Amino acid sequence: MHFSRYNLILPMKENPRFPYAIMNSLSGAFDLVQQPEYEKLSALQQGNPVEDKEFLDYLLQRGYMYHSPKEEEDRLHQRWPEFQEALQESAPQVLLVPTYGCNLACAYCYQNGIKQKTQLMSKEVVDVFFDHLKKQFPNKKPFITLFGGEALIASERQKDVIDYIVKKAAKGGYAISAVTNGYDLIDYLDILEQAEVKEIQITLDGPQAVHDVRRSTANGKGTYERIMLGVTEAVKRQIPINLRMVVDKSNYEDLVTLAEDLDKRGWLDLPVQRFKTQIGRNYELFECYAAPQHLLDQAEHWAMFVELAEKYPILKKLHQPEFKGIHHLVQTGELYLPSYDTCPACKTEWVFDLYGDIYGCTATTGQDEYKLGTFYPDYRVRQRDVREWQERSVLTIPKCQDCDVSLICGGGCGAVAKTKTGQIQSPDCRPIKEILTLGLKYYGDELLKMGY
Ligand code: SF4
Ligand code: SF4
Repeated sequence: MHFSRYNLILPMKENPRFPYAIMNSLSGAFDLVQQPEYEKLSALQQGNPVEDKEFLDYLLQRGYMYHSPKEEEDRLHQRWPEFQEALQESAPQVLLVPTYGCNLACAYCYQNGIKQKTQLMSKEVVDVFFDHLKKQFPNKKPFITLFGGEALIASERQKDVIDYIVKKAAKGGYAISAVTNGYDLIDYLDILEQAEVKEIQITLDGPQAVHDVRRSTANGKGTYERIMLGVTEAVKRQIPINLRMVVDKSNYEDLVTLAEDLDKRGWLDLPVQRFKTQIGRNYELFECYAAPQHLLDQAEHWAMFVELAEKYPILKKLHQPEFKGIHHLVQTGELYLPSYDTCPACKTEWVFDLYGDIYGCTATTGQDEYKLGTFYPDYRVRQRDVREWQERSVLTIPKCQDCDVSLICGGGCGAVAKTKTGQIQSPDCRPIKEILTLGLKYYGDELLKMGY
């Protein structure tokens, strides 16, 4: 008998009956565990025999045990097509960078140090981009995300180009979304609404006093009020908003005041299809942040959220963290499908810029060493490089092949891995067990009620 490599036995939120939970990301099983069962599981994990046929049968049936390691290996390969199918079902995302210029000067901008150019995409390049989309995606239409730099700067020239792009998107039947600092959103709503707007992602870093210091215009002017003007109008027009808050140790607690402001506006009562939130960490990928002592790692980040949400329940209304699938489990009664790969670059995500260059994802955009080819003036892509990104998964990264959390982690970010090791086919390890443990604590009451 073989004790599955993917079993994770983790402490539950404190309660009198179930000190632990067991989950298996290959079989999708989750169970609460009492102390006597925990002792048997520990014995099995250490390779010791357990004489309890009924218990062993249950473990076999739930995929916590296999008759042999080979049976588990076979299961691992059997489920891979399921993952591929789910990937094919999701709409690909094409990010379009009409400019690398920006009207703000945020303290931690990921673009510090990369090509700082203020040119705009020409209509000729826009035409070639749309011709190319038809060829690259003949069957499944991608959605187009306007990205930058800042795609929505309200100069007449930029408005004219974005208007041209949006009209072409509408004509071609492509939905659009935008990642914007939101400063000029108010001037762009009419333009954007000419096409189907999937979502607008806007960043706020806290309440006005905090946000205005971190995200000011190039000449030091605050931006909160003007962003809120745009968001208020967008919400009124029922355009889906995805509000991203970028936090570190210095502004985490300020989320409370921001949450109160958003709640007063009634936005936290809107359905998630109309208003959702995400809490992001400062982005360290290309050493772009001036005060690294403020940065949080993923586990610290969510531990801080759990601690603050206990103290300030408004945060529970502001955001429901996923905790690597524990929230999904609470909502649906199921774990996610095994994630053989969590890096969408060159699979479901591509970036095209104003110079006709192609990149695999937003984090690598504008970085010469990550350029994969061009779509303008000619279509030329280095297929070997693209294949290397496409083949990256926990089945191909050597270290991930023996990892017990691989089907949740998915190998992490390819760009971070390459920055650290020089290799795309290398791991970017994530503190998965720590985050799951936080999730079991945070959603513990719901899980206990569900009575696993
Ligand atoms: S390389 Fe990193 S940032 Fe880019 S798509 Fe992959 S996971 Fe995301
Ligand atoms: S990147 Fe690290 S934590 Fe993630 S699957 Fe690979 S070995 Fe495991």
